[in-house]
Amino acid sequence: MKPDLFQAPDYYNLDELLTDEHKMVRDAAREWVKREVSPIIEDYAQKAEFPKQIIKGLADIGAFGPYIPEQYGGAGLDQISYGLIMQEIERGDSGVRSTASVQSSLVMYPIWKYGSEEQRVKYLPKLASGEFMGCFGLTEPDHGSNPGGMITNFKDKGDHYLLNGAKMWISNAPFADIAVVWAKDESGRIHGLIVERGMEGFTTPETHNKWSLRASATGELIFDNVKVPKENLLPNKSGLGAPLGCLDSARYGIAWGAIGAAMDCYDTALRYSKERIQFDKPIGATQLQQKKLAEMITEITKAQLLTWRLGVLRNEGKATTAQISMAKRNNVDMALTIARDARQMLGGMGITGEYSIMRHMMNLESVVTYEGTHDIHLLITGMDVTGFAAFK
Ligand SMILES: Cc1cc2nc3c(=O)[nH]c(=O)nc-3n(C[C@H](O)[C@H](O)[C@H](O)COP(=O)(O)OP(=O)(O)OC[C@H]3O[C@@H](n4cnc5c(N)ncnc54)[C@H](O)[C@@H]3O)c2cc1C
Repeated sequence: MKPDLFQAPDYYNLDELLTDEHKMVRDAAREWVKREVSPIIEDYAQKAEFPKQIIKGLADIGAFGPYIPEQYGGAGLDQISYGLIMQEIERGDSGVRSTASVQSSLVMYPIWKYGSEEQRVKYLPKLASGEFMGCFGLTEPDHGSNPGGMITNFKDKGDHYLLNGAKMWISNAPFADIAVVWAKDESGRIHGLIVERGMEGFTTPETHNKWSLRASATGELIFDNVKVPKENLLPNKSGLGAPLGCLDSARYGIAWGAIGAAMDCYDTALRYSKERIQFDKPIGATQLQQKKLAEMITEITKAQLLTWRLGVLRNEGKATTAQISMAKRNNVDMALTIARDARQMLGGMGITGEYSIMRHMMNLESVVTYEGTHDIHLLITGMDVTGFAAFK
C-alpha cells in the first residue's frame, strides 16, 4: 500500500469551531492512525482478519469510552471529541471504527447508563483499557430492521436466568469477552443481559466470506440453555428504548466516522488527479474530474457542519433520535458516493489495494446497512416530519 500522505480538508475553517482539547484529541488519533493503522490495514483486510495488536493503541487514544467518566476508566471527553476520534479511526478503516463504536456505545454505554454500580465497577475499567472486548447482540436471523420482534428470551429459574436464542451479524463476536445481549423476559419485555465467554451453552461462530468490513470480525451468538447469573441483568432500563438508546450514541459516532472515510477518498483522488498525466496534462486539469472533486469537497463540508452542530446539540443534551438518524443517513450516503467517484478517478489503480479507496467503498456498504439501513433512516425522518410511521 502507498505511504499515508493524508491531509485533512477543512474548506470552511471548521478548526476555528474546535477547542484546543478537541484539536489535541483529534491530532493524537490522526497520528496514531497514520503510524499504526495505515501501514497494516490493507493486509488485514485482504486476509479478513481483525488486527488485535491495535487494541491497546485504540484504548490509549481514548477510543474505548471517550465520553465515559474517568472514574470508570473512560476518557471523560465531550461528544465532539468522541466524534473526532471516530472520524480519524474511520479515515483509516471503517472496520476498526466499528470495533471502537461497539466497545464504546454498544457495550460500555449500556453498562454505564443502565447497569448497576457493581456492574460499572466490574466491567467498565477493563473495557476502557481493552483488557476486555465486548459485543452487542440485537439483530437476529429473522429480525433485523424490526428488532422488537426478537425471539431470544430468558426465563426466571429462581437463582439464575435461562437464556435461549440466536443473534446474527454481531461485530466483535468471535473474540469478545462479554456480550450485551437483548432478550425478552416471560412477559415479552426486552432486557439487556451481560453474557460472558465461557458460560456453558454460549458459542460465537464466525461469519466468513464478507466482501465488506473484512478487517472487522463478525459472528453469531448462540444461546443454548445458558445459565446467566441474576446479577448480570442490566437493572435500570428495559423495553426497546434501551437498545435504541445505545444505537443513538453509536449512530452519532458513525456520522462522524463516515466523514473520515470520505475525506480519505477525496484526498487520495485529489492528489492522484494532480499527478496522473493523460493527453499530456494532469487529469485534474479536466472539467469532468474537477466536477467530481468540487462536488466531493462541497458534500464533505456540508457533512462536517451538520455533524459539528449535532455534536453541540448532544453536548447540550438536546439532540433527538431523528436528528441523529438524519446525520447517519446523509453522511454515510455522502461517503459512499464519494468513494465510488474517487475510485473511478483512479482508473484501474482504483481497484487495487495500493490505494485505500476500494476498501473504503466496500466497507461503507456495511455502514450504510448496519445501525439502521439507509431506507429505515429515511422513514424515521419521514415519521418525524409527518407523524406517520410508514415502516409499521
Ligand atoms: C458487517 C455487519 C456488522 C453488524 N454488526 C452488528 C452488531 O454488532 N450488532 C447487531 O445487533 N447487529 C449488527 N449488524 C446487523 C445490522 O444492524 C442489520 O443488518 C440491519 O439492521 C438490517 O437488518 P437486516 O440485515 O436483517 O435487513 P432487513 O431488515 O431484512 O432489511 C432488508 C431490506 O428491507 C428494507 N426494509 C426493511 N423494513 C422495511 C420497511 N418497513 N419499509 C421499507 N423497507 C424496509 C431495509 O431497508 C433493507 O433494504 C451488522 C450488520 C453487518 C452487515
